Amino acid sequence: MWACRPAPPSAPDVASSGDSAAADVQAMDVAAMDASACIAAATAALSSVELELRLWDGEPAPRVEFAWPVAPECGALVSSAPWLEVTGTNATRTAQVDTSALRTGIHRAAIELRASDGSVLASKSATLRLFRPPATRDDRRVMVIGYDGARPDAVEAARTPVLDFLRRRAVQSFDARTQLAAQTVSAPGWMSTFTGVDPSRHRVVSNGEYAMRDSAHRTFVARAVDAGHRAVVSTAWEEVTTQIVETSLGATSVERNFGFDSFAARWLAQRARTGVERLYVQHLNAPDAAGHSTGFSLDNPRYIEAIESCDQNLGVLIDGVLARATVAREDWLFVLTTDHGGRGTTHGPLDDDNRRIWFVASGPSITPATIAAGASHMDTAPTVLDWLGVAIDSSWGLQGVSRAR
Ligand SMILES: [Zn+2]
Repeated sequence: MWACRPAPPSAPDVASSGDSAAADVQAMDVAAMDASACIAAATAALSSVELELRLWDGEPAPRVEFAWPVAPECGALVSSAPWLEVTGTNATRTAQVDTSALRTGIHRAAIELRASDGSVLASKSATLRLFRPPATRDDRRVMVIGYDGARPDAVEAARTPVLDFLRRRAVQSFDARTQLAAQTVSAPGWMSTFTGVDPSRHRVVSNGEYAMRDSAHRTFVARAVDAGHRAVVSTAWEEVTTQIVETSLGATSVERNFGFDSFAARWLAQRARTGVERLYVQHLNAPDAAGHSTGFSLDNPRYIEAIESCDQNLGVLIDGVLARATVAREDWLFVLTTDHGGRGTTHGPLDDDNRRIWFVASGPSITPATIAAGASHMDTAPTVLDWLGVAIDSSWGLQGVSRAR
């Protein structure tokens, strides 16, 4: 029993002799048992409180009410940070967020049950991720995140709190289309996403076959470099960095990384946290891998899990941006899309299951809108270039449309 009990917050000195020592030990025992009852009740009550919060500028600050069946003698329930206020004196408490003094960034706090001596008996951490538009929009930054083989219906069915947050301030379509000039496989899909033109122009029509590529149709990475920018590209599918993003671009222009999704995303997040570059790209492979092994279907739990793993990696990537020391004065855009859908355990056909995709361009300066018709992953290149202030030359023949300004 004794060993399992938490130590009392501050053990009173135990007298050294006689009956009074025994009485003190007994008193301490009671206090300790009370503390464990307090800890158990408070821990159970706080465990159900959801305080992982994501907010855009102007969104109403949430109030979270929760039951508080903890004896008043246990201590006071308080917040460790001014932006999170805890109110209420009876069986119900309210955690109220106040963002008025907060800047763009990650804000952490805790709700704590503090005993009369100030010791913390139980706590619940709270995290608020907040984006506000910068005061001026001259410091533009972009992160492009591609999910390989992610059907829009499955993306909408999966539990994706980070993407849901981005979609609250986005120009978007969940009825977009892939390139329409070649089979719906990764190389033509990502080539069209990166170049803004379809395979009739860039001439990459199947995976691994780049011999016919028309290099005049440069990727948005190359065009950004042409305009004096540098880029960081991380991928879980090697052809993105060994074939699609021009290898003629040296390491001083484009830093490249290859690894499994979570490793690659962590690497890019770390680079984005301190990077001076304005353009970051992450390709994630999990949906395609799950689709090929168990089925591209919203009825397939493995496929849904793979999309949810992308959302966790998306959270890591966004946290990298939010942790930047300069993030509050930067104008960030997050562009997300996919290269193709799928059906059964394959993709490639030219039908709706394979060609219907999604496109999201999100950021604190974006006016939310649904793209009525005609959205494509080819919109990625002009959207990125437009955001970075790279003038789009009509001679490039871009078939996509800039969706965010
Ligand atoms: Zn693919």
